[in-house]
Amino acid sequence: MTYGVISGHSLDPVEKKPLYHFFPGRNILSIGSYGCNMKCDFCQNYHISQSRADSFSPDTDPDKIAIEAYNATNNIGLAFTYNEPVIWYEFVMDTAALIKEKGMYTVMVSNGFVNRNPLNDLLEFIDAFNIDLKAFNDSFYTKLSGAELEPVKETLKQIAKAGKHLEITTLIIPGRNDSEQEMDQESKWISEELGSETPFHLSRYFPMYKREDPVTPDSTLTRLFDTASKHLKYVYIGNTSAGRGQNTACSKCGKIVTRRTGYNTRLINLDDKGKCTECGNTVYRNFTFSSQE
Ligand SMILES: [Zn+2]
Repeated sequence: MTYGVISGHSLDPVEKKPLYHFFPGRNILSIGSYGCNMKCDFCQNYHISQSRADSFSPDTDPDKIAIEAYNATNNIGLAFTYNEPVIWYEFVMDTAALIKEKGMYTVMVSNGFVNRNPLNDLLEFIDAFNIDLKAFNDSFYTKLSGAELEPVKETLKQIAKAGKHLEITTLIIPGRNDSEQEMDQESKWISEELGSETPFHLSRYFPMYKREDPVTPDSTLTRLFDTASKHLKYVYIGNTSAGRGQNTACSKCGKIVTRRTGYNTRLINLDDKGKCTECGNTVYRNFTFSSQE
């Protein structure tokens, strides 16, 4: 029904997906459609994810998108985002194959609620993922999202095992998933199962859709940032542009290698391979300086 149907379309900094360790400072053409396989009552994108329509008419096709991506400024490729790409499967597969043919990169921003075999097929064509890990307790998933936690954990393991670039986002909702104990378990699991260098984004919640919980206080975000940082080397705070959790420090020597202010990204103390010039540690495996720099 939604093959070729576009709800959103924009050339964004890759940091906005969010991906902080995949070609930092570059752009990525980003597209999305309508619908979702979850029903989160706090959805931050509900206008497109939970919209209902009897019929859609296609706006584009894979060839047009691939040509546009190829011609866009400072662009590394194409991101499937805004709504859930898993339910846009046929269009994602067809378009991602063309992007790869042109030598560009593909990104999927997803809730990770997908079966093993279709994910295996996607892994052939998708280079990098940001997966939402909404909470680390099953009752959150069943009550607030209409889904389950365990399949999402399996997805994360499958992506990491395939050697694809993986970052994780958790939207912190006051009173729902903001306990230190839960964050301790979650970040420990990520470190042990996926690696301690997995970039982890704690995202600030705003009241939306069916929920009226208050905006996540800065103090909650910094408290959970400290908890997660005990297990993980690259923890970030998102949806806010001030304070801690914005910059990247080399995991080996602690030197700042990237300063971020909003979506402005400044790369410093890095060589052209993404290594820290202070100690030689590889901070970014996927890295090129922008064509404008
Ligand atoms: Zn270093």
